[in-house]
Amino acid sequence: MDALKELQCEVDKRETKAAAVAQAAVNEKAISTSPNLPHPKMLDEYITTYCELDDTGRELLDAALDVRHNAYAPYSKFKVGAAFRSKSGVAYAGCNIENAAFTPGCCAERAALAKGISEGVLKYTAGAVVACHPSGFTTPCGVCRQFILEFAKADIPLYIAKAPEDEAAIPAIGDDDEILVTSIYNLMPHSFTVFESKE
Ligand SMILES: [Zn+2]
Repeated sequence: MDALKELQCEVDKRETKAAAVAQAAVNEKAISTSPNLPHPKMLDEYITTYCELDDTGRELLDAALDVRHNAYAPYSKFKVGAAFRSKSGVAYAGCNIENAAFTPGCCAERAALAKGISEGVLKYTAGAVVACHPSGFTTPCGVCRQFILEFAKADIPLYIAKAPEDEAAIPAIGDDDEILVTSIYNLMPHSFTVFESKE
């Protein structure tokens, strides 16, 4: 990245942060504080560009894009990659896995988390999802949202990107590509819970 682009990126980051602070004030008013509802506090949701992301966001998106090449999606052709960062800083990536009988299939988000969980890692601090849908960002399905929440002790950011249309020609997410930065509480503010302490 040349110096001018780095400078522009820094300006964009500051503008994004200012917008996020303003949005946070709106969010605080909108979220219920009832003790009978879980998750009274959630992270901000906003759209930014790849170059404006922090290292964690870029690392996870890169890992998700990379593992997406292994997606087993012969029926829908809809390839998805996901990656989650553990509390200790290790990234686990997974792709979607379809099945001829349909229901045994597994989403990329659960495949990624299953890798870490199988190694005894139960706490995650961030996640990313990459798919290619021309009309919008692909966020985790309802099942995956509930699954992710089981391993998120507090709200965690989720970085969502569209995969490049031409994978052969553009093997990476572009610096100026839009990224949706949301969070698991934004996607599922009132999940099923046993109302037990997660500490
Ligand atoms: Zn899913």
